[in-house]
Amino acid sequence: MALNESVAWRAELGGGTRVALLRAGTFRSDAGTLFGPVPRVLWGGLVTDEIDHEHRLLQALNCLLVETPAGRTLVETGIGERVDDKTRAMRVYEGPPVVPALETAGFAPDSIDVVALSHLHFDHAGGLLRTDGSRAFPNAAIVAQKAEWEVALGDNPRLVASYVQPELRLVHDWGAEGWADGEREILPGVTVVPTGGHSTGHQAVIVRGTGDGAQTVAFFGDLFMRPWGANPRWVTAFDDYPLDSVLRKIELFAQAVDEGWLIVLSHESKRPVGRLERDRDRFRFQPV
Ligand SMILES: [Zn+2]
Repeated sequence: MALNESVAWRAELGGGTRVALLRAGTFRSDAGTLFGPVPRVLWGGLVTDEIDHEHRLLQALNCLLVETPAGRTLVETGIGERVDDKTRAMRVYEGPPVVPALETAGFAPDSIDVVALSHLHFDHAGGLLRTDGSRAFPNAAIVAQKAEWEVALGDNPRLVASYVQPELRLVHDWGAEGWADGEREILPGVTVVPTGGHSTGHQAVIVRGTGDGAQTVAFFGDLFMRPWGANPRWVTAFDDYPLDSVLRKIELFAQAVDEGWLIVLSHESKRPVGRLERDRDRFRFQPV
């Protein structure tokens, strides 16, 4: 595995399973929307160093490269390279997109066996195609939840707002070949777990090493974007089913504490890897 500045973090989990954190660029999201029901007086002080003149926060596009003896899984693809200038400016999107990010880190895109997507919003599924329309990962199966594909290409105006339907239609048949309907071990030690909450078919990805000192890495997708999301009640206004988000976070976070999981946050730019600790009726994210 290449070890250079393009790999933000890496870990050996045991039994030949390794993970590397890659960044497929950054974009900006409205701060108030990210904090959803939480009053500004509670969150304003947390983001003073990153909020811009339009009240937006810096969001990293974190991806995981998981290597196991059975194959390679890429978790998330970011916004990708098929955005027009207007969208790029509106989102304040800056690359590199996922393919050059992977290549710089020493991973050939055609060596990826599985692309696991937490969900199909624009900032997670945008990197499946190259600018010329070809598949960015020509030998990979795409694993997202079947229910996520159905809602992403549905017609509810509230639910479809975060999906780029013309792009998703281009990859629908590819996605249908690999979609999951519930929990599934996609490669030995790599499991997708439906969560709902943020979106109908949102899923977490859990990677388990084996042997003495084995570690587990969990990627909760946009159920847990930033450190303050450790409080289960702090959900974003992007969550389609916020009450489900709260309940699933309580369940998954308790398991993460009890089993000592390492966690990678989906959009944190500074210190996105850590563990959860219990804190009264909530949890606290402790970066490692
Ligand atoms: Zn996102």
